[in-house]
Amino acid sequence: MNELILIMIMLASVAYISQPYWRKRVVVNSNSINGHMIDLIDKRDCLLAQIKELEFDHEVGKVSAEDFAEINARYRTATINILRRIDSMSGSNPTQKLEKELRKLRTQRENGMRFCSQCGHSVGRQSHFCPDCGQRLPK
Ligand SMILES: [Zn+2]
Repeated sequence: MNELILIMIMLASVAYISQPYWRKRVVVNSNSINGHMIDLIDKRDCLLAQIKELEFDHEVGKVSAEDFAEINARYRTATINILRRIDSMSGSNPTQKLEKELRKLRTQRENGMRFCSQCGHSVGRQSHFCPDCGQRLPK
């Protein structure tokens, strides 16, 4: 049980030390989605680092298996919740992604750029073969 208290103190100090770092960024972007996003990403990174540290402490025998299981489960749940929120905010909507890709292709075509269908290398308008992989190009 002493180890658990020790870990709590350690985590509290880590959180305390890292506080000015993310507090500053949250204040800067407090009203924007970006700020929320940065905050979430910071929290995710912080949790991942804590999980890693916990695993290390467990490996070297500083944390009992019982404590490890309990703390680990709590960290993982928290991390998954944050990942879900990041996912829902990052617009990982397949329709949006598709539209974005299509816009990119349209821009490329308008600029007269062509790309190899085999390797994606950019090719000149008049090229018959890809300079990179040698694929025959449509006229
Ligand atoms: Zn190619």
